Amino acid sequence: MNSSNSQKRRHKSNPGSQQTEPLNAKIEVEPNTHNPDLLWETLKQLHPVYRIGWSYAATQPPDSLRFVSHLPHRIKVVTAGNHEVTFDEFGGGGTHPTLERLQLGLPQTASHKEVAQGCKELLHDVLYLEDEVIEICGIKIYGTPWVPRFGTSGFSCSRGLPLLEIWDKIPTDTDILLTHSPPLGYGDTTKSDKHVGCAELLNTVTKRVKPKFHVYGHIHNGYGVFSNGKTTFINASVCNDQYRPVHEPVVFDFPLPPGYCRGDFMKLSLETLQEQRLLSGSFMKTRKKETAFNMTKIEKVINGIDAQTASD
Ligand SMILES: [Zn+2]
Repeated sequence: MNSSNSQKRRHKSNPGSQQTEPLNAKIEVEPNTHNPDLLWETLKQLHPVYRIGWSYAATQPPDSLRFVSHLPHRIKVVTAGNHEVTFDEFGGGGTHPTLERLQLGLPQTASHKEVAQGCKELLHDVLYLEDEVIEICGIKIYGTPWVPRFGTSGFSCSRGLPLLEIWDKIPTDTDILLTHSPPLGYGDTTKSDKHVGCAELLNTVTKRVKPKFHVYGHIHNGYGVFSNGKTTFINASVCNDQYRPVHEPVVFDFPLPPGYCRGDFMKLSLETLQEQRLLSGSFMKTRKKETAFNMTKIEKVINGIDAQTASD
């Protein structure tokens, strides 16, 4: 901030007057947010990280739309990730493959948005969250698919302010945060031992939201469970770096809040939860339904990224 000297000068020349002109503040982006490996080396001196004990369930087959939709669990909450490029209404910086348009029965001129809507309609018997929250028996779960820019894959966004604006939408009363990207420092190392997690997500989770659980994937090598003493971080990547589904699914218990019992959960149906989504007005969409979610802000971010990419 370089405004203090000019502020003093202004008051000296016109004592007692109200400031009418906006002061200029020089704001610089912390450069290390673009080098998460270096930043984590600094931050880990300040934030103790413990690897904690955990147990796992039986091996499951690899993930896919059909697999998720047919899982026998009573309520399934999912979000997308960078591999779900066809879910990205902006095309992930590239083009949706011709095949998807053919499979969906859409003309080759169909927009990214039409392809994305068509693909999401293939999901059934799940609650799909895309920058949205759902409350289940008093437990608030927020899901978001975005990752730090990663080629032309889906839901890919520049580090720094563009991603922070996306994380800023996560409510502070979130109990379980479901993201695709890991935060910096917790299960975010590649096979070459580089930290590639998001610094802005780390700040959002540890300083503002402080959920009880933060579940993610994306960096397959970072599979495991960690804690900072307040939040349990779970990198639940099923696949290893060779995309082989060798990791066990992670299972954890979450106590029902006061006033709720197991019977309440057993009475829940996907339909009532879908209705709740629509009534809340905070959801971007459910199958074949448009809601009041405002995409303008994200469009601005994406347009900014496109402009930045074009000028690189
Ligand atoms: Zn990923």
